[in-house]
Amino acid sequence: MSMQEPPGIDREHMAQRFAEQRARIERAARDAGRDPASVRLIAVSKTHPAAALRVAYELGQRDFGENYVQELLTKAEALADLPDLRFHLIGHLQRNKARLVAGLVSAVHTVDSVRLAQELGKRAAGRPAGPLPVLVEVNVGGEQAKSGCSSEELASLLAAIDAEPALQLRGLMTVPPYTEDAADSRPFFEQLRSLRDRHGGSERLPELSMGMSHDAEVAIAAGATWVRIGTALFGPRPPKTS
Ligand SMILES: *Cc1c(COP(=O)(O)O)cnc(C)c1O
Repeated sequence: MSMQEPPGIDREHMAQRFAEQRARIERAARDAGRDPASVRLIAVSKTHPAAALRVAYELGQRDFGENYVQELLTKAEALADLPDLRFHLIGHLQRNKARLVAGLVSAVHTVDSVRLAQELGKRAAGRPAGPLPVLVEVNVGGEQAKSGCSSEELASLLAAIDAEPALQLRGLMTVPPYTEDAADSRPFFEQLRSLRDRHGGSERLPELSMGMSHDAEVAIAAGATWVRIGTALFGPRPPKTS
């Protein structure tokens, strides 16, 4: 096997998928009367090997979303020769792992408690890249099993982030309840946007991280600036074993 063609990774097929998803985002932005440059694609690479990210990087992709801290650390090490590759932590973060990611990622999308904000603020101090960009995850669907703060907790959590000099407040993130029909995500995305408008607008909260493979268009119509797409780029993920 050559280094150029990692096993199990079909470069042509990936190139086609990335081109399709970029075109899809552009079309959705135009349909919504928005500048396509205002929507950034975050390629969600969880469970896929570092070699797949490397191929995506060669196709021009720079932003990658990862859910699990250990997996992120392993990939960051394998891809350390790509200095402008950006990792976004999009999975739930436990406080005891904040120190592992604070210096490594370009953004944490999933701050959902004051205590996590404080811990991240402590661990991000002195970060060479400057203050750590963070988003607050809001559980707009109010689902029991899902992480994210409630709309009621949002104001105090935003204030706690503002109080941390090593954190840079960037916006809001959500994962709506899964529905067969992507259009059903609309009220949840609109709720996130109206929370943004109520808590300082795009001046204070420039990024709205929302939309995945099945509902990216709906999210873009509602104002998403960061869409997190996995399956449509990298194919299906193996079922979780742990
Ligand atoms: C896995 C994941 C995604 C990507 O989902 P796809 O359906 O594969 O596009 C986006 N956001 C979060 C938070 C995820 O965990």
